[in-house]
Amino acid sequence: MKAKKTTNEYKTFIKQTERAVSFAERFKGKPFAFILALVALLAFLAFSVFMREPVAGDISVHFLNVGQADAALVVCDGETMLIDGGNRGDSSFLYSYLKKQGVEHLDYVVATHAHEDHIGGLPAALKLATVGTVYCPVTDFDSDVFDDFVDYVDKAGARITVPTAGETFSLGNATVRILAVNDGESVNNTSIVLKIECGNTSFLFTGDAEREVEEIILDRGYNIKSTVLKVGHHGSDSSTCYRFLREVMPEYAIISCGNSNSYGHPHTVTLDRLEDAGAVIHRTDEKGTMVCRVENGDMRFFFPDK
Ligand SMILES: [Zn+2]
Repeated sequence: MKAKKTTNEYKTFIKQTERAVSFAERFKGKPFAFILALVALLAFLAFSVFMREPVAGDISVHFLNVGQADAALVVCDGETMLIDGGNRGDSSFLYSYLKKQGVEHLDYVVATHAHEDHIGGLPAALKLATVGTVYCPVTDFDSDVFDDFVDYVDKAGARITVPTAGETFSLGNATVRILAVNDGESVNNTSIVLKIECGNTSFLFTGDAEREVEEIILDRGYNIKSTVLKVGHHGSDSSTCYRFLREVMPEYAIISCGNSNSYGHPHTVTLDRLEDAGAVIHRTDEKGTMVCRVENGDMRFFFPDK
């Protein structure tokens, strides 16, 4: 079998050489025409490589290193969604990161809940980019940081939309489903929880939602199995309960937390639960900003700060 294959490969090689010789002979005595044809061929090849259409299922998720806070940029088929924007102090970092990524328009901005570590930097994003839809669980909250956020939403000519659990929307080829919003009394439990599905890959973002909300989501019977889990509440033991984790069964768990933060996040019990579930844990306090890129069904993590 192997010998036959080698003979065939040899014949193909001879045929290709003959073709190349006859192509070159056509330009005998016309070196300029030969070079021109060669340049055209190379330009065509380069065009085919660089202008490759994105394949359905290609998506990038940037987990930004905003310390003890949350911010993630999702890009799918040129459409963009910013989930949280870090603290006020992260504004210039967020602004320059989005600018470097060439973001001029945000199709969706999701403020998971009204705490500063999630909405503080959003005005900077709204200063840089135009915006489509802005989701937040509330339209009013008693803090200067929230008033500032509302001002910039107004300035952008948008308004805050409070989503409903169960609703879906598209982000390029991806489908985003809202799994929870305003499902508890505490501010953390007002968090918008959403799942992004793109081809065979999925991402679950839970904001700072705690066990109480996780149980409500389980009771609703959604399919929450996800490739990547953005771990709830910076890895606090009040989130990521066993029952919830057993349904999500993530391959990767992302924890956004500050170096030696005063809350002790992530808590050891949460890390133990994630390890028991077999998830690979990536933490912003250890790895900085992380980019998860899915291309042609192949998922890779990049750590630009390292
Ligand atoms: Zn938080």
